[in-house]
Amino acid sequence: RRGRGGCSSRVFAQSFRRFASTLVVAEHEGGQVKPSSLSALAAAEAVSKENKISVLLGGSGPALHKAAEHAASSHPLVSEVLIAESDAFAHPLAEPWADLLRSVQQKGGYSHVIASSTSFGKNLLPRAAALLDVSPVTDVTAITEERVFVRPIYAGNALCTVRYTGVDPCMMSIRSTSFSPTTTEAMSETKVAPITQVDLSFLSEGSLGKSAWVSLTSQDTERPDLANARVVVTGGRGLKSAENFKLLEQLAEKLGAAVGATRAAVDAGFVPNDLQVGQTGKIVAPELYMAFGVSGAIQHLAGMRDSKVIVAVNKDADAPIFQAADYGLVADLFEVLEELLKKIPDK
Ligand code: FAD
Repeated sequence: RRGRGGCSSRVFAQSFRRFASTLVVAEHEGGQVKPSSLSALAAAEAVSKENKISVLLGGSGPALHKAAEHAASSHPLVSEVLIAESDAFAHPLAEPWADLLRSVQQKGGYSHVIASSTSFGKNLLPRAAALLDVSPVTDVTAITEERVFVRPIYAGNALCTVRYTGVDPCMMSIRSTSFSPTTTEAMSETKVAPITQVDLSFLSEGSLGKSAWVSLTSQDTERPDLANARVVVTGGRGLKSAENFKLLEQLAEKLGAAVGATRAAVDAGFVPNDLQVGQTGKIVAPELYMAFGVSGAIQHLAGMRDSKVIVAVNKDADAPIFQAADYGLVADLFEVLEELLKKIPDK
């Protein structure tokens, strides 16, 4: 009897798992779901083509509602959009958001919870996972089965395949550069998902008082966001000064590119640290990545090796960056930059 019972409960568990339901924690800006969160929706589809996806958005004001409308028609598998309308969720504070995630998960009983590996996702996920008493799987780059994932280890030098064997929900953060969002053409037949308000009665003084939003300081620039740019021009310590980085900025203007930097360039004070690409910086995978005066340390490669085409300019023919580059030029970067700036017309 006991054996049969065990068996049938296993059969039940398997058939239950076939119908994955995923909660995607989405970020939005200017009334649009951010591209990194659209990639999280693509990851939810990779979990299962029959996945029922719920999208969770938080914040307040008209921008939240506009983003909810965007989310509602952003992917064919989205079955509902949940909005947590409160100033408590207007900023990426992990404490109230973790309480929100726990409450929504407890009501919805999702099999998977997915967030992007942005600074918000990285801050939120472990805290929410601890509240739900599960272990999150981080930095997923591929999904081979509903609970089998690939993630980089040793700064991207090895790929590890892991099976999640814990209880629901299986929580994970995904590398947005590894999951392409659904194109608008694929969306033409899509129904628009309903938008529902989340019950916020769980919010307590405790979850609100732990942290407070002070301010956001960001660079006032017309250039594309580093994490989503199609072209990135990066400078390393070889640029030698903050003044010389202006040459890279001029090239970026001409190419419609974002500017990136190595940690050595950031540590030397040439540029602010939000431009850092690599293991402890941003992960990028643009169509074109141009590296000037970058040696190609593994920690830097960890953040850009998935770029489609890599061009490297370095005066040292033995620099490791050339092993990752599709096109390498052994030359003085200042001469190359001068020539490029002369030859490439303004945008
Ligand atoms: P260098 O290694 O000093 O290389 C400068 C290059 O410029 C050289 O190859 C040189 O030949 C070339 N050069 C000099 N002058 C010229 C010229 N005139 N023309 C052409 N070429 C020239 N690094 C990151 O980038 N991102 C990270 O996220 C990151 N995380 C880290 C995390 C940890 C835990 C640790 C330990 C390190 C991390 N690092 C990271 C640092 C990393 O190990 C390297 O120190 C760093 O990437 C080196 O930066 P660089 O290539 O600019 O400098």
